Amino acid sequence: AIKLENVTKSFGALTVIDNVSLEVGDDEFLVLLGPSGCGKSTILRMIAGLETVSSGQIHLGGKRVDQLPPSGRDMAFVFQSYALYPHMTVRRNIAFPLIMRQFRWWFHIPVIGDLFKRRIENSPEVRGLVERTADMLALTKVLDRHPRTLSGGQRQRVALGRAMVRQPSAFLMDEPLSNLDAKLRTAMRAEITQLHQRVGGNFVYVTHDQIEAMTMGTRIALMRDGSLQQFGTPREIYEKPANTYVARFIGTPP
Ligand code: ATP
Ligand code: MG
Repeated sequence: AIKLENVTKSFGALTVIDNVSLEVGDDEFLVLLGPSGCGKSTILRMIAGLETVSSGQIHLGGKRVDQLPPSGRDMAFVFQSYALYPHMTVRRNIAFPLIMRQFRWWFHIPVIGDLFKRRIENSPEVRGLVERTADMLALTKVLDRHPRTLSGGQRQRVALGRAMVRQPSAFLMDEPLSNLDAKLRTAMRAEITQLHQRVGGNFVYVTHDQIEAMTMGTRIALMRDGSLQQFGTPREIYEKPANTYVARFIGTPP
């Protein structure tokens, strides 16, 4: 479950998130929706711990997290530009968070460091987790290839795999499909929805695309200029828009 309680964010005198409260259950897919500059990424970054809150509280799984560093929050973040490591295989890219969990300073020493990284990568535990993850994302056949040899959609799935492999209780995604062409985007939407159905947990997904929001979300938070206009299921928002702004944005016929 994720709960935001009167969350406000200001940069100097500028308030960019104004008193936002919302709550979703354990297995919900929350979409943060709204036009450019309305504050979607700022909310996501506060949930992730990449940005502090100016006031208010954030709870994850019943635990208050807004004062914890990102590493203490049990969340995984998928960015818009999925930065894969080009010199590493897909397997190493996916295993990377597990390898870094056992980080030692001498990992930086070229040959020796690589030897130890490979040892972790080949341990039964890590191999098992990576292969299960790859299996879920249909990446088994490309595990030993490098990112440059993959399609855009495959790369996107590797980025997802890297986020999934730690088995976090929440996935945060900021417009993860915006770099893909229309056809691939439709396919990836369905894949992310299926992924959510398979692995469960909380997904928080940022988009400015109302179709994406309506088809993927179990709940939508529609923002405008830092304030929450409506929070509800796609159906509630479509059938009972809270105001004309919501109706226009969603395209409810008058
Ligand atoms: P987009 O769809 O374009 O990504 P967004 O909804 O994600 O937009 P945010 O990035 O959350 O919007 O930004 C919300 C507002 O906060 C914007 O007006 C932005 O200029 C402002 N903002 C974000 N980060 C900072 C910062 N570090 N300093 C000052 N203002 C900021
Ligand atoms: Mg943004």
